[in-house]
Amino acid sequence: QVLFHLGEMVTATASVADEVLELLGSEMNYNVQVVSPEEEDRELLDSFDISFGEDLGDEEDLEVRPPVVTIMGHVDHGKTRLLDTIRKTNVRETEAGGITQAIGAYQVETELDGEKRLITFIDTPGHEAFTAMRARGAKATDIAVIVVAADDGVMPQTVEAINHAQAADVPIVVAVNKIDVEGANPAKVRQQLTEYGLVAEEYGGDTMFVDISAKQGTNIDQLLEAILLTADATLDLRANPNMPAQGIAIEAHLDRGRGPVATVLVQRGTLRVGDSIVAGDAAGRVRRMLDEHGDDVTEALPSRPVQVIGFTSVPGAGDTFLVVDEDRVARQIADRRRARERNAELAQRRKRVSLEDLDAA
Ligand code: GDP
Ligand code: MG
Repeated sequence: QVLFHLGEMVTATASVADEVLELLGSEMNYNVQVVSPEEEDRELLDSFDISFGEDLGDEEDLEVRPPVVTIMGHVDHGKTRLLDTIRKTNVRETEAGGITQAIGAYQVETELDGEKRLITFIDTPGHEAFTAMRARGAKATDIAVIVVAADDGVMPQTVEAINHAQAADVPIVVAVNKIDVEGANPAKVRQQLTEYGLVAEEYGGDTMFVDISAKQGTNIDQLLEAILLTADATLDLRANPNMPAQGIAIEAHLDRGRGPVATVLVQRGTLRVGDSIVAGDAAGRVRRMLDEHGDDVTEALPSRPVQVIGFTSVPGAGDTFLVVDEDRVARQIADRRRARERNAELAQRRKRVSLEDLDAA
């Protein structure tokens, strides 16, 4: 009724904008404060004196970290094949014979100007992971490699991928794939992409294009080099390893033998076995950490992906994680987040019920 008097044509089941809620509040002498889930969570962490994401410590504590790369592109243009090829050709060999595990992400070592450098690849399927993480306000990727098959050219999901990367302000490297296929036309791909603001360096632009064959392993080193050059030219990739670890869970599942298993990407600080950890509403203590070879590791530096065993429940993909002083704090944060979720759901349901009652009256 009040809204109607204010000229807002709403029905009983409509959602209203934040401003309308505030207006409604002031009309009815309530002080309505609209708090986003992010703000609410920040307040929760504040109450434990924890800052997430911002406070990186002193400038002199910052150290260069590897770029984190996501591969995106149209279906069948070769994303999976490229990830496999990169993994097989560059993942550091171990005594175990270099058998690699799919843990949702991996690091490769490559050389640039005689210097050994690491690159982290996120292995989860394309832009779904990307959007899921962005929806949660987390940014996992530093650079997007957009794969375009040279025998097919720019397709709808190519454009979608470019839009995602540009919206997230993530620099793009273009991998023009399948150059081994007869009729492949890499020049046409370059030409098509100018329409989306991606102009190749050789055409006077500032986007690096690399012609590759994921199938034959052609120019993979050049692609890795282009990633590092793009990172060095456009990003300041540094993080403080001397703080409790924080980052993002990129994949998680329940393993029959090992319980909840989560692949996390450390973004700041150093994650260690024995740390008390909370990711979303899942708490735990890091009992074991495994790398992409399935080997145990005891600590993980920024940009390092590791599998963590020791959560008491399964975190969500895209949840942020942080290390806290003690298990008790991890549990409390997880509990409060879970309670908040539950309250939000209940409130939603109650609202619907009471509005329906109103309707009937
Ligand atoms: P995705 O959907 O983007 O992950 O594409 P896939 O990696 O599954 O590749 C789709 C198909 O293209 C598969 O049959 C691959 O073997 C093939 N493919 C990928 N890269 C190349 C390439 O460089 N050359 C050729 N000839 N085939 C490729
Ligand atoms: Mg695939």
